[in-house]
Amino acid sequence: MKIIEHIANANKTLVSFEILPPLRGKSMDSIFNMLNILKEFNPAFINVTYHKNEKEELNMSRRPGTIGICAAIMNKYNIDTVPHLLCANFSKEIIEDLLIDLYFLGIDNILALRGDSTKYNHAINLVKQINYLNKGKYIYIEGGQSSNFCIGVAGYPEKHFESPNIETDILYLKEKVKAGANYIITQMFFDNKKYFHFVEKCRKVGIKVPIIPGIKPISSKYQLNTLPSNFYIKIPEELIQEIKKSKNEQSVYKVGIEWAIKQSKELINNGVKIIHYYTMGKHDNIYCILKEIY
Ligand code: FAD
Repeated sequence: MKIIEHIANANKTLVSFEILPPLRGKSMDSIFNMLNILKEFNPAFINVTYHKNEKEELNMSRRPGTIGICAAIMNKYNIDTVPHLLCANFSKEIIEDLLIDLYFLGIDNILALRGDSTKYNHAINLVKQINYLNKGKYIYIEGGQSSNFCIGVAGYPEKHFESPNIETDILYLKEKVKAGANYIITQMFFDNKKYFHFVEKCRKVGIKVPIIPGIKPISSKYQLNTLPSNFYIKIPEELIQEIKKSKNEQSVYKVGIEWAIKQSKELINNGVKIIHYYTMGKHDNIYCILKEIY
């Protein structure tokens, strides 16, 4: 089922998760263990990240298996999955083959992303390519079998790091929607005001599609530096102080959970129809958050 259908049919706030493929050489057990626990909350869908090659010369990813994991989850749990697809590292031809795999597997949703490695290609080109396939237009074939993908794209409440300002970033986001994106998932944020302002700005320029907020519970002191440097987001001073006061990593974990509960409750009270949780390979914190609010 399409993400936008899940949202349209929702009669209470839904949840979804983002998970990472296991490291090369590991099994899928960690994912099944996680989902055996989190399935209690009836996730509307599960996103699976895509990992480019860490080294250009080594044509291998450290975390392969995105599409296989999506198919395995659908098969085992009957939950919709959303593979992330990057356009920065692949030719249009390779992408077309991947799209055909997804279509044949019965995967209805894709998160169309650029990835971090180039400034010469943009996610909009991937959105256009998926949208062409939805109309039966393949690279070298017109009038082929049409796919019917629901297309998601990324949005940045604190702006994308390359963008000169949030207004420019939002105008490019609008272009992605015009090109066929059906919904937006946001980068993580720790201050709900950032999300509310972002939604307001998007609506003002005429972006009408659902904007799904992404929440990540902080789980270690170390993340006070790694999250801002990896994801270009800010952490509110109040949260920093709470974490600094924590005597050990266990109490940091607790602070992260409580902050995410507070954020989630406020989003729900403001009528948000779905909250997307970034697991980053952990599920006990997500479990505590959801147990508290659902
Ligand atoms: P784009 O939409 O191409 O935007 C990138 C930059 O270019 C922005 O500054 C934008 O303003 C600008 N821009 C956009 N369109 C144009 C245009 N037509 N002309 C000029 N400038 C333009 N990365 C991974 O490697 N794997 C993942 O699984 C993954 N999952 C993610 C999930 C979410 C929800 C989010 C928010 C990000 C994820 N990322 C992932 C990170 C993402 O790949 C990076 O943030 C990347 O740098 C930008 O991707 P994008 O799709 O937003 O790119």
